[in-house]
Amino acid sequence: MSTSVAEICENTKLAREAALLGNYETAGVYYQGVVQQIHRLLPTINDPTNKGRWQSAQQQLAYEFEQLRSIQGTLNSFKSDNHTDRPIGPARNIPYEESNHDPDVWGSPQPRDPDVWPSPTPVEHSKSAPAKGKETKSEENKDEKLVEEENQERRFDGSGYDKDLVDMLERDIVQKDPNVHWADIADLAEAKRLLEEAVVLPMWMPEFFKGIRRPWKGVLMVGPPGTGKTMLAKAVATECGTTFFNVSSSTLTSKYRGESEKLVRLLFEMARFYAPSTIFVDEIDSMCSRRGSESEHEASRRVKSELLVQMDGISSQSDDPSKVVMVLAATNFPWDIDEALRRRLEKRIYIPLPTREGRLALLHINLREVKVAEDGVDLDAISELLDGYSGADITNVCRDASMMSMRRRIAGLRPDQIRQLAKEELDLPVTMEDFMAAVEKCNKSVSADDLEKYDRWMREFGSS
Ligand code: ADP
Repeated sequence: MSTSVAEICENTKLAREAALLGNYETAGVYYQGVVQQIHRLLPTINDPTNKGRWQSAQQQLAYEFEQLRSIQGTLNSFKSDNHTDRPIGPARNIPYEESNHDPDVWGSPQPRDPDVWPSPTPVEHSKSAPAKGKETKSEENKDEKLVEEENQERRFDGSGYDKDLVDMLERDIVQKDPNVHWADIADLAEAKRLLEEAVVLPMWMPEFFKGIRRPWKGVLMVGPPGTGKTMLAKAVATECGTTFFNVSSSTLTSKYRGESEKLVRLLFEMARFYAPSTIFVDEIDSMCSRRGSESEHEASRRVKSELLVQMDGISSQSDDPSKVVMVLAATNFPWDIDEALRRRLEKRIYIPLPTREGRLALLHINLREVKVAEDGVDLDAISELLDGYSGADITNVCRDASMMSMRRRIAGLRPDQIRQLAKEELDLPVTMEDFMAAVEKCNKSVSADDLEKYDRWMREFGSS
């Protein structure tokens, strides 16, 4: 069923009206509905600017919904036994301004306390000015201090940990802004939708994702190599403004053997400090070869156990939504992952080879900075030929094709002759023949047997 824009506008109006009238339950239902409607609409929008606008609208509505839940929480706390027979009028131990405030009047958003709600866009919040008016001088100072603190970059206090480990994590693993957007990734609309649902929405609407709807402990992206799993993880972190911890299992198990468990502990501790955070564990299979198998090194077993303990730790954290830490893992070999870890990576998403449209989009992305001959290059036909190629394979084909003319030009020349060639002589437009030769030369990296194996594994253990 398609989502109509008119319907979204109408439901937004109804949500806000109900909220202003104090009908919080009704308003909540409309807010949840409208956020879901926008979520369904987003994959159908291709224009990035338009999509960006809808995403901010969705964020705004999720934020309003959070406020609503907070007001409801406050009102419910008044209904508790201690307060039921409190006389109307200012309560003795509540400051005058606060008791004078009508809880049914929904004011403009106040600056957010970073310790209360996670921020999908921290920059916006740090820009918000504190509400001035009735506050006393000391309250104003408090607000200013808060904003100042928010503006200052917080740094993790690594005392108690090996300084080298802390520095290494800060330098190599923490990425404040990986700067990959959904629009940079060709195809994979379904994977993007599932990741938004599994990772992004719980960060935007922590109140909604409680109890039975609690977020997944971890999400596993499964699929052939070079299909965009790492890009997706970076986009998740970019799109929801979380701190991104990019760690590969082989780094954890080989480079820092002996220190590895400490590194895992520190990784999660830092992730909690910089929360909301996304920890991306690439090649998770290399850490988690089946338990007890001969290849399983004692050290990697300990690292794996530590990872399991830490993942259990984050799943019990959810009472404090500002501390959301999500584990996002990727593997090309899902069958090597043992059951204990598989159980914790509850949501398992398949990242397939690109479709025909995806391959065409990938060609366009890869050829953005390459001169392509005006005549005779049929990208549609090339994308057809590339059936079965991964995104990374297609990047290789384009790179190879773009080098063909240069190779032809320098064939048989001596190095000193090559050095004398002008740049324009080498940088010729890529022709259809170049593409055909490149396709001929570059083989696909994923076999039909591999695809069959993924299919079988997903049928047994997948959850997308
Ligand atoms: P994976 O983590 O699945 O092995 P990556 O995300 O590292 O794959 O992708 C490897 C490279 O392949 C990327 O740097 C990019 O150039 C290209 N690529 C793969 N899939 C896509 C995609 N869907 N959209 C754009 N580029 C892609």
